[in-house]
Amino acid sequence: MLNIVLFGPPGVGKGTQAALMVQHYGFKHLSTGDMLRNEIKNETPLGKEVKQLIESGFLVSDGIVIALIKEQIAAYKDAKGFIFDGFPRTTVQAESLDKMLEAQGTKIHVMITLDVAQEIIIERLQKRAVIEGRSDDADLEIIRNRFENYEKQTKPVMAYYSAQGKYHIAKCSDTPESTFAVVEKIIASHV
Ligand code: ADP
Repeated sequence: MLNIVLFGPPGVGKGTQAALMVQHYGFKHLSTGDMLRNEIKNETPLGKEVKQLIESGFLVSDGIVIALIKEQIAAYKDAKGFIFDGFPRTTVQAESLDKMLEAQGTKIHVMITLDVAQEIIIERLQKRAVIEGRSDDADLEIIRNRFENYEKQTKPVMAYYSAQGKYHIAKCSDTPESTFAVVEKIIASHV
């Protein structure tokens, strides 16, 4: 089993790289953003609870996302590996993930941070707003809010994995495929 944390600011392309990783390695993709949007779409009690926060660009509580991830780890315990996308986003979540994986006799093997210039990300997010209709991508103010939360609440997660010797950076290039070539090299050094 190989477990990967895919990390980076909103809109950096984690979902795209995760899809390529699923194709290539057959790992299970766990995106808390997708899970939460699904809850909203299905109008579940949880979806109703988080809708406003997500649409305004704030993080939902640690307890909520930890419970979602815990359920998925148990449901797919025979997976070849997990790609954690958009989780952990706080150090509390990172500590909790370590405990959950330890209980299953496994761990995070590698953390890959995707890195790209902020101007490019903002352009991409605004395009995604049109394609996917995500209201949190449409408004510049909300995008700024998400970047600010990333800087304050999420960036410390880098130091957490760095202290464990698991931190890697993948500078994104022009195309998803050429970025994936960098990701592949990092993974290859861990299998
Ligand atoms: P992106 O990385 O493109 O901003 P995601 O799809 O990962 O988007 O997440 C969308 C929103 O869902 C976040 O802005 C946040 O409100 C919520 N969310 C997703 N994952 C988490 C998490 N691990 N902790 C707290 N909130 C989360």
